[in-house]
Amino acid sequence: MGMTRRPFVGGNWKMNTDLASAVELADDVVAACGCFADRCDIALYPPFPYLQVVGRTLGHHGLLLGAQDVYHQPNGAYTGEISTDMLLDLNVKVVLIGHSERRHVIGENDELVNAKLLAALEAGLGVVLCIGETLEQREAGDTNRVNVSQLMAGLREVAPEQMEQVTIAYEPVWAIGTGQVASPQDAAAVHRIIRRSVADLYDQDTAGGLRIQYGGSVNAANARDLFGEPQIDGGLVGGASLDSPQFKAIVEAAVQATEKKREAPTA
Ligand code: PEP
Repeated sequence: MGMTRRPFVGGNWKMNTDLASAVELADDVVAACGCFADRCDIALYPPFPYLQVVGRTLGHHGLLLGAQDVYHQPNGAYTGEISTDMLLDLNVKVVLIGHSERRHVIGENDELVNAKLLAALEAGLGVVLCIGETLEQREAGDTNRVNVSQLMAGLREVAPEQMEQVTIAYEPVWAIGTGQVASPQDAAAVHRIIRRSVADLYDQDTAGGLRIQYGGSVNAANARDLFGEPQIDGGLVGGASLDSPQFKAIVEAAVQATEKKREAPTA
């Protein structure tokens, strides 16, 4: 597993911005981060109604348009839901699956998460499968069990060749939107378990090529230390992605950390 993976930073805007501020933020992010797009995958996940305008702004700047969710059925009587074809129509390249707010606020279970993931892969979209333990589960010593279980359930029936489309985001629920970031060592320990599980489920090459993002209160001040960990291949960023200078600093930290890893490969 001595390879250096291309870093991947996502900005999850959640249910924030309005039409005007979404366009403005996308413009600012393009201006700030466009120069890093050759060295880092950078995705923006605006709310559904703004996908089209944000997509226009991202245009030819090499940033990826992302969606925060998708439904697994192709069409029909599913009021309020969005299909993979609709996302493809808008030039969406990557979709979040099983974000902790969808699991814990909206109530999605592992079966629905897996169905959505399979549908998105089938459609040719990149997917970011989000997993993570709650504080209660961590305190009960269940961190590894919960993450491996969500990982296995999410990847059920995913073919080895489809793993190229998959990124994992390890997002401890207690760290999301709380300002309470996991230590780089604690995050890296879970990333190691995730990678080992993928090696067991598929093979070493698949695990070695898999990008695992950390998410949970990543900001300009802590990104460098997190991304310095050989196991951490970038971040999924909520709050700090609404501030373009801060998002830029996070992307820059990912690029610089990857350059260092390339000079001194360890894991
Ligand atoms: C997220 O939305 O996935 C997230 C990690 O949010 P925040 O960075 O605000 O904790």
